[in-house]
Amino acid sequence: MNTKILTLDTDNFQASDLEEAAKLLRDGGLVAFPTETVYGLGANALDKRASSKIYAAKGRPSDNPLIVHIAHRKDMEELADEIPDKAYQLAEVFWPGPLTIILKKKALVPYETTGGLDTVAIRLPANSIARELIARSGVFVAAPSANISGKPSPTNAKHVINDLLGKVDMIIDGGKATLGLESTIVDLSEGAPMILRPGCITKAMLQNVIGAIEYDPAILTREPKSDIVPKAPGMKYRHYAPEGSLTIYSGELQAVTEAINTIAREKMECGYRVGIITTEETKHHYHYGLVKSIGSRKDEASIAAGLYGVLREFDELHTEYIYTESFSDNQFGQAIMNRLLKAAGYQVVKV
Ligand code: AMP
Ligand code: MG
Repeated sequence: MNTKILTLDTDNFQASDLEEAAKLLRDGGLVAFPTETVYGLGANALDKRASSKIYAAKGRPSDNPLIVHIAHRKDMEELADEIPDKAYQLAEVFWPGPLTIILKKKALVPYETTGGLDTVAIRLPANSIARELIARSGVFVAAPSANISGKPSPTNAKHVINDLLGKVDMIIDGGKATLGLESTIVDLSEGAPMILRPGCITKAMLQNVIGAIEYDPAILTREPKSDIVPKAPGMKYRHYAPEGSLTIYSGELQAVTEAINTIAREKMECGYRVGIITTEETKHHYHYGLVKSIGSRKDEASIAAGLYGVLREFDELHTEYIYTESFSDNQFGQAIMNRLLKAAGYQVVKV
């Protein structure tokens, strides 16, 4: 398949620039586009043939449901039934933005899109290209991250091109995804509200709007256990895995840098390519391997935005062993550590 690349400036484009992409979506095609979280791979969510193509292009397991993207808050009512007040409250405060809400689905949403579930995940993204594309297409857009399943999510168009060139109809290059981590997922489809995936909209922010909310117990366990199954089917897969072996070092920062220096030196002496994931504050303390800072500890958002890109850079360099510092578990840190633990296959060394 010939993949068309369209380059647009998120802050300065004409709505008509998106007509061809919108038509591709209307006609059942696949279009990758930027959002504020990560790049998405879009198809008409109500056309089961179109959404099945997403699974084929990504190599995604068919029981892993897709998030349906809308252009206006009220579109939620077209897709979902029995919408609780809390959904309207969250939509009012956090949409457009990096929040996905799970609700009971209407019959018109095909099971091919929801991975066989009776619920549907809905998000109104903030990125202007994403919103205009969805609005102009006139369809609801199912869009998981635009990567090959199991790879780190794409945070720029180059990542998407590496994974999906020749497999999709169009890739829209709109520069960097500003947040760099996937949306927070909140389940309001039954019982008490529950966070199924942590993200940049934190538990405290959600609590301020709708009161009590808990994490899905399955995402808090450090190791996936067979007896606790996460409610978001996608959370059970080993995602975001770099090709090299990734290990997290946790503990007091100075001890962590010393331990990483020691192991990095050992591996290099054995002839391996070694990468180290660090921050602005500590990058000067490493003496071995390829040292990459993903951001500043004073600015958690910079770390969230830098994570996936660095994992991909280490892949390109065929790094065999990657060592990373760990990050605090509060606020954004919860989302960052959730992704990092999965990328590392839960390999953690406590020092
Ligand atoms: P991605 O779009 O690649 O970030 O993946 C979407 C995530 O949303 C996956 O972890 C899915 O399992 C989750 N998800 C989508 N729809 C539902 C749903 N109806 N119920 C629970 N989780 C969902
Ligand atoms: Mg994904």
